[in-house]
Amino acid sequence: MKLLTLGLLTCAVALSGADIPRVEEMKGKTVLLFTPHPDDDAFCCGGTLALLARNGNRVYVVIYTNDDKGSYDPDMTGERLARIRKSEEEAGNRALGIPSDHLIWLGHHDGMLEYVDSKSLVEQATGIIRRYRPDVVMAVDPGAESVRWHKTDHRMAAMNTLDAVRAAEWHLYFPNQRLQQGLEPWRVPELLFFYVLDKDANVQVNIDPVMDKKLAAALSHVSQFEPGVHKYNPDWKPEDRKKAEDEVKSMLRRRDGHYVESFRYATEFNQY
Ligand SMILES: [Zn+2]
Repeated sequence: MKLLTLGLLTCAVALSGADIPRVEEMKGKTVLLFTPHPDDDAFCCGGTLALLARNGNRVYVVIYTNDDKGSYDPDMTGERLARIRKSEEEAGNRALGIPSDHLIWLGHHDGMLEYVDSKSLVEQATGIIRRYRPDVVMAVDPGAESVRWHKTDHRMAAMNTLDAVRAAEWHLYFPNQRLQQGLEPWRVPELLFFYVLDKDANVQVNIDPVMDKKLAAALSHVSQFEPGVHKYNPDWKPEDRKKAEDEVKSMLRRRDGHYVESFRYATEFNQY
């Protein structure tokens, strides 16, 4: 009984302690983030991405959908909204130190990711993982409890990305990628899941030093805040910008007086 207790304790220490790296200190890595929409990356992880970019990591962002549905503006069209969201995403990432040629647009329609042919979608993400060979993949947490409340594209992006991480390491999945495009299998060593429940988070990144970049990235998404949701206008009124800034800050978690972004870290996709 004692031995068993000791074993469990050892395991708990290993999961929450030394094996979990400080994201703030990562250097020289290739980081590939899969975001459902062109704004989740800024809202979930903008501060962390700014720190990663500042520390010389190569950060790439894969954007599943073009976000062409979320507007109440009766004069808005899907095509125009997609263009607006693209330029907002580019501006937001520039603020974080991520250039536009590091954004990989898959262009699926907003809210429709679950209706895209699922085999094609996994193949698409698998090819990207094999091409970029990331040290770290960042994705929506597909955890058994949190996935229930995710909205449609978030559920699908979570599951699809993990399915692609699995497929990418086995050469017999989508062997055409190797034969026709020279893409070799790739085993993703580290995973950082975002949109995690508090109880599942095992990484807290202090984003105080880059709060200005986080806010600039989040506030680039003018069409996602009022009054832009009801009537799009690219120019903020100062009072609307202040309201949006307060909203972003209120969504952030705080630990010991610091603003943090929370993640669940895993070293093998099926370890947890
Ligand atoms: Zn989203």
